Amino acid sequence: MKTVNVIGAGFAGLTVSLRLAQKGFQVELYESSDRVGGLLGTDQTPYGIAERAANALIRTEKAEGLFAELGITPSYPLETSKKRFLFRNTPKAWPLSFLETLALMGRVLPRVLTGGKKALRPQAGETLLNWGERKIGKAPTRFLLGPAMQGIYGNEITHLSASLILGPLFSGNKRSKYKGLLTGPGGMQDLVDHLHTRLQELGVKIHLNSQVSLESLQGPVVVATSARAATQLLAKKHPDFSKVLGNIQMSSLMSVTLFFAKPQEKYKGFGCLIPRGFDLKTLGVLMNSYIFKDRDKTYNETWILGGQQEEALLDLSDGDLLKLLAEERFRILGQKDTLLEYRINRWKKALPFYDLNLENALADLAEVPEPQGLYLHGNYLSGIGLSKILERSDLIAEKIASAHG
Ligand SMILES: Cc1cc2nc3c(=O)[nH]c(=O)nc-3n(C[C@H](O)[C@H](O)[C@H](O)COP(=O)(O)OP(=O)(O)OC[C@H]3O[C@@H](n4cnc5c(N)ncnc54)[C@H](O)[C@@H]3O)c2cc1C
Repeated sequence: MKTVNVIGAGFAGLTVSLRLAQKGFQVELYESSDRVGGLLGTDQTPYGIAERAANALIRTEKAEGLFAELGITPSYPLETSKKRFLFRNTPKAWPLSFLETLALMGRVLPRVLTGGKKALRPQAGETLLNWGERKIGKAPTRFLLGPAMQGIYGNEITHLSASLILGPLFSGNKRSKYKGLLTGPGGMQDLVDHLHTRLQELGVKIHLNSQVSLESLQGPVVVATSARAATQLLAKKHPDFSKVLGNIQMSSLMSVTLFFAKPQEKYKGFGCLIPRGFDLKTLGVLMNSYIFKDRDKTYNETWILGGQQEEALLDLSDGDLLKLLAEERFRILGQKDTLLEYRINRWKKALPFYDLNLENALADLAEVPEPQGLYLHGNYLSGIGLSKILERSDLIAEKIASAHG
């Protein structure tokens, strides 16, 4: 049986290990921390669960297939979650005025109707802010595009790369219809636990607290860590690759789950996204109790803050952070409620910054000949979301099977 080494046991490392083991490889999975799951995890509190990072996957065929093969009965979002709010002085289902909406339709509809969608395609080296102001206008960029993208990528559209983020929409590849989200009944930890168990059943050897180096490994290696960790791992053996990866910036993010004595009932929906420019630090709030059914004993929300320009927020004490959130919650939702419990996750250098540096680094990576037997994996390569990571796990396993099977 041929051995394949996987470094990093986040969602990328766990799922690529699963696919490789299913193809008959002996998989050695190395993880530097004392647990598997990476950013993913769910904390239990007396009042309900609190997700540390992702709260769900996009419901693609592959994601549903993964849940089915692991024997997890998925939890699907409630009807209430279909409503989403964007902040413009108050949370609104549609934040543009009548005239702004007409202007947006005037810009976009003719292109969509005449099949000239290509005219909306972003240019290389263009930020989302530039693309938005050029193609959809100032108000839709500020109140729709900005908060939506900050909510996903945790950073300002002044820096985010339009072609990395919007490019796939205009690639000409057929895109499947968005069918919503799915998670485990006990949250994302269910998925991590089931993956862990299945890997053990398949004979994958999981080495926790590992300090593995590339030089010590024989056979193909999948590096499934963050870009920052991959830069260090590759430094000695593949300095060209390491140098390119070193140009990828990482940004910090924080998730704070707040449990309240009574529910907020004015805004029932998935959550509310907050554009910059209102003197608010929050990027978005998830109204967890209106997203998934039967999970919470008590009404709770998850507040997301951070981003590269707001890294200092991670240094606030719990008390100062809760005070800031109480003020922002009052301004955003108009609520002051008794807090029963909270969970804070401070992620330093958590996510790759999908900015023009990453766009350039990925273009440079394509130019550096891929060292034989080395496969890069993770959320800086083909998308930040878990369903994209899952797709890449399948692709990498296929590639390894055809090269080394
Ligand atoms: C607050 C927040 C909310 C999010 N919400 C969503 C969402 O709702 N839906 C969604 O799809 N995505 C979401 N995401 C993104 C998603 O969670 C991540 O992109 C994904 O979990 C990253 O997985 P990964 O395996 O690539 O990386 P990681 O989870 O970072 O895993 C990398 C692993 O490698 C290990 N490692 C590092 N260095 C070494 C080394 N030298 N040797 C061995 N091991 C090493 C690390 O310890 C870690 O376990 C969210 C992210 C955050 C932070």
